[in-house]
Amino acid sequence: MTALHQLLAAVGASPIQALQPVPGREVQLLLKRDDLLYHPAAPEWCGNKWRKLKFNLLQAAASGHQRLLTFGGAFSNHILAVAAAGQLTGFETIGIIRGEPEAADNPTLSKARAYGMHLHFLSRAAYRQKDDPEFVRGLEREYGSVYILPEGGTNAYALEGCVELAQEISAQCDSKLPDAVACACGTGGTLAGLIRGFSGKTRMLGLPVLKGDFMTRNIGSLLSENDPGNWQIIPDYHFGGYAKHQPKLLEFIRQQYEEQGIMLDPVYTGKMLFGVYDLIAKGAFPPGTTLLAIHTGGLQGNIGMNQRLGSALLPE
Ligand SMILES: *Cc1c(COP(=O)(O)O)cnc(C)c1O
Repeated sequence: MTALHQLLAAVGASPIQALQPVPGREVQLLLKRDDLLYHPAAPEWCGNKWRKLKFNLLQAAASGHQRLLTFGGAFSNHILAVAAAGQLTGFETIGIIRGEPEAADNPTLSKARAYGMHLHFLSRAAYRQKDDPEFVRGLEREYGSVYILPEGGTNAYALEGCVELAQEISAQCDSKLPDAVACACGTGGTLAGLIRGFSGKTRMLGLPVLKGDFMTRNIGSLLSENDPGNWQIIPDYHFGGYAKHQPKLLEFIRQQYEEQGIMLDPVYTGKMLFGVYDLIAKGAFPPGTTLLAIHTGGLQGNIGMNQRLGSALLPE
């Protein structure tokens, strides 16, 4: 076993816990606590970012790379996860950041720098070229040989990590799978990997956090000819779009923390769990249903969000 394999193996399975049910609805609600999935020396590399990076790191090591390069916004969970993962596992990291260099002092990017990530800021216009091969060649001329992770980290290796998440859930449920499994969707990589991992044996529900009707198509193209079916996109809980925060959502997040000690964030998991509770309350699931929601992590963003809101509205 290499040192990298040992570090990865040191992080065991995350627990599944029961959540408070909705009164009057006979639906059992469970939460897969991937927010607790991390190595203690790099806690911001957690949740679905842990799943999505695992096989990418193995591939980067196997292909002889020492340097990871990736893309993201100034508060990105993915950026900080790559920085933390690089520090833990011995890769140099370069973050191509959309925005102005002043953002380097925000809580997310301060931590990324403390983990040793080199930050390279681009204007919004320049950042839009990030998938242009000529532009990427320019970055390679500047930084040498790099293993490139796309924005959000979604690629074939990321899906493999989420297939493993489905296998872990199956093993923990002793072959009695929940009737449905729900997760938040940004790029859809996590959902696509879960769909593939469950291979149609349980119903997968994806709740997009962005506005627009592209998610069903995204998932279709991520799965390509490997689509077992039995999945559905529920587009009703984006709360106005990415990183928008409606009072109703912030109120729900505070309530979950006070009533059952679960920390959520307003960008991803808060919307997802709000949607799940709302669907149960509306009678979307027949009595006797067991539903498992996935906590994909992302709590680091609450610190920066509180700064932007100007008060400590969210649990940190
Ligand atoms: C990045 C992220 C997501 C979105 O995952 P995708 O694979 O891009 O759909 C969901 N939840 C959290 C907490 C995240 O950080």
